[in-house]
Amino acid sequence: MAIRLFNTYSRALEEFRPLDPARREVKMYTCGPTVYSYAHIGNFRAYLFEDLLQRHLESRGFTVRRVMNITDVDDKTIRGSRDAGVPLAEFTAQFKKAFFDDLETLRIKRADSFPEATDPREIAKMIEMIGTLMERGLAYQAEDKSVYFRINKFPEYGKLAHLNLDELRSTGRVKSDEYDKEHIGDFALWKAWDEADGPVKWQSPWGDGRPGWHIECSAMATQLLGDQLDIHCGGVDNIFPHHEAEIAQTEGCTGKKFVRYWLHCAHLMVDCQKMAKSLGNFYTLPDVIAKGYTGREVRYALMRVHYRAPLNFTWEGMEESRVALARIGDWVRRLEENAKKENVQRPTPNAQRPMEEAPGFHDALDDDLNISGALGVLFETIRETNRRMDVGEMDSSEAKAWLEWWKRVDQVLAISGEDAGLPAEIAALAEARVQARLAKDWRKSDELRDELAARGWEARDTKDGQKLTRRGGA
Ligand SMILES: [Zn+2]
Repeated sequence: MAIRLFNTYSRALEEFRPLDPARREVKMYTCGPTVYSYAHIGNFRAYLFEDLLQRHLESRGFTVRRVMNITDVDDKTIRGSRDAGVPLAEFTAQFKKAFFDDLETLRIKRADSFPEATDPREIAKMIEMIGTLMERGLAYQAEDKSVYFRINKFPEYGKLAHLNLDELRSTGRVKSDEYDKEHIGDFALWKAWDEADGPVKWQSPWGDGRPGWHIECSAMATQLLGDQLDIHCGGVDNIFPHHEAEIAQTEGCTGKKFVRYWLHCAHLMVDCQKMAKSLGNFYTLPDVIAKGYTGREVRYALMRVHYRAPLNFTWEGMEESRVALARIGDWVRRLEENAKKENVQRPTPNAQRPMEEAPGFHDALDDDLNISGALGVLFETIRETNRRMDVGEMDSSEAKAWLEWWKRVDQVLAISGEDAGLPAEIAALAEARVQARLAKDWRKSDELRDELAARGWEARDTKDGQKLTRRGGA
């Protein structure tokens, strides 16, 4: 069955066909964080949707090449570093690290590359693109020395967001520093240095300054993935002006269609309200973990609603996720016990066998990542197979087959196991101890247990394997 995705550009479900169908390679660009503070769970909802998309495409045999940018220079990062009295790179480093820790906690696959806007190679590419746009009359330098994109010269401008330029003119807000732009919607490609920028500046043919946010993504995407992408994702708040601007800049330079499929994730609400620091409902991932939830519980909670529907985050929802994961965990353990049993029962003649490709679950995801449908298949399977185990109808070979089915499903969901939410170093020690025990290296296993204990984690060996628990008060 073909994969269908909702393309924001056409506002329609379209069959997914990559640019180069023979190679089954998908070039995917996902807008990353601006590292001026800790990311909130709304940001991670979008990153989890992108992770689900990548994993599903991979389960269907595609190779995904994904790039996610890190915006480490803009007004907010500059202001933050100035207020903190530290250099920009030092200021952003703490938030970059936190971002990568959070990705790990949520089991989000790492992109193939995470280019940073301040990387000299990327800055050079941005300057090159702005130069091309200047040559083609698509950009101009205004009296304030900044360089702007001339949207009147790009007829396609507004197509992604379904806006027309007249609307833009009437709804645009005039900021005092935008008086010398030709059109209110013209956006900055290069921002001329001013005193507030302090030491943050790069040389360019238009004078010292720094790139605008939109050109960063056009430059990094084309530098690392080429002129044409299969999929570009982001949150709905990225559609305008950010993605609209990316199209104008990139196509203005290359003359080729930039992106085949634009996918956007809806907002996250908290208790039916927009998340805002002023409302006291603004949560980072560590805030949620500090309430006793694991990374995989948060992963499940943020992933279980279709990406185009608004998701309302509540603590009851977190409890539901906990119950759902416990149910899956119990089921998997039961299957494992059944799989170990000798085949004492004769399989009934109509024994139900899982099919090769996890039918139903992946089919549902083919339909624009219909996660509710896919989870419905999973829980229906759990209910039915539990019933069969209750009445002793399942033999070990069938249990093994269901475990294989679950493995394929969990390659997409990535919610099984006990180590979720573990810090990376603890997970690494725990894994090393599993390996030591497999190799019957008891001394090493004990050493690793002591090391884990020194870090506040207790390793117990149960019949289901190693279990880790955080020690009270540690
Ligand atoms: Zn972007």
